[in-house]
Amino acid sequence: MVSGISGRTRVCGIVGWPVEHSFSPAMHNAAFAALELDYVYVPFPVPPSNLPGAVTAVRDLGLAGVNVTIPHKTAVLPLLDELSREARLTGAVNTIVNRSGRLIGDNTDGKGFLRSLVENAKFLPSGKTALILGAGGAARALAIELALAGAKKLVITNRSQERAAELAGFITEKTGVKAEIVPWPAGRFETIPGEALLEADLVVQATPLGMYPNDVSAVPLPFELFRPGQVACDLVYNPVETIFLKRAARAGATVVDGLGMLLYQGALSFEMWTGVAAPLEVMRDALLSWKNKIADGGKENC
Ligand code: NAP
Repeated sequence: MVSGISGRTRVCGIVGWPVEHSFSPAMHNAAFAALELDYVYVPFPVPPSNLPGAVTAVRDLGLAGVNVTIPHKTAVLPLLDELSREARLTGAVNTIVNRSGRLIGDNTDGKGFLRSLVENAKFLPSGKTALILGAGGAARALAIELALAGAKKLVITNRSQERAAELAGFITEKTGVKAEIVPWPAGRFETIPGEALLEADLVVQATPLGMYPNDVSAVPLPFELFRPGQVACDLVYNPVETIFLKRAARAGATVVDGLGMLLYQGALSFEMWTGVAAPLEVMRDALLSWKNKIADGGKENC
């Protein structure tokens, strides 16, 4: 934001319920300030019953766009004029762009994940095999993105096996990429067949295991099977350096933290609203100081 609000200030924001612990205002306002863009980013606490009115307001008040977070990511789809391929496939929207009154819904979670892998580990998914731990919303977004980017095979494991099977079936049906599940019979990752870990070029931890305040509990995995040449990525970003990442790094894998995905999904939204390259360092610093501020408690979200 430039100094003060003017008659020309463009408004962006985040629509969620609740939104008070969102990191996004800090990250985007720091970016606007660094580039002296006449934009401001504000939180909009919107209960589910008010979502249709809030979406109409984005159009009617001429907002540049908004992020959408829990619990509205799916409910917002039918309220929009157009959806990106990622939004259609994931069935979730985290970014709305207002193009002269036409509201376009997109999902930058998967693309943010991929950009983080490329920039932080030089990992290109084409022809590669990925093992994904988890089958929730984030796992779905990144699995679809990996498939669209030409991954050879996805192997999915999850506490609820039906959810893993549904995601694997969906990936193969929609993208033609081979997707398998491995069972998690005893509810512990030690029981994941070693071949799945050995075969994987990329291992993604997409469950909340290891997240603050439970960051002392390791994700139970046979870490001795990780190897050099493999990339291990944890979506958990609080703490940034999780036990999963520490132990995978100790076994020789290249590690990518969850802050990267968080940063790049925001950077992609920023670029859609402003048409300007996002100041990544400024945004990463803002994320880190936000994270340190909430380290004494609180439940953060996008
Ligand atoms: P979600 O939709 O609620 O899915 C949670 C997933 O974790 C499901 O697969 C669930 O298994 C599994 N799970 C939950 N508790 C578990 C436990 N105690 N043991 C084993 N598995 C467990 O959540 P999400 O949105 O996918 O988020 C997953 C994680 O990614 C969270 O930690 C979130 O903070 C993080 N995330 C990070 C970013 C980023 O930008 N870095 C973005 C999005 C999410 P079931 O299906 O069996 O319930």
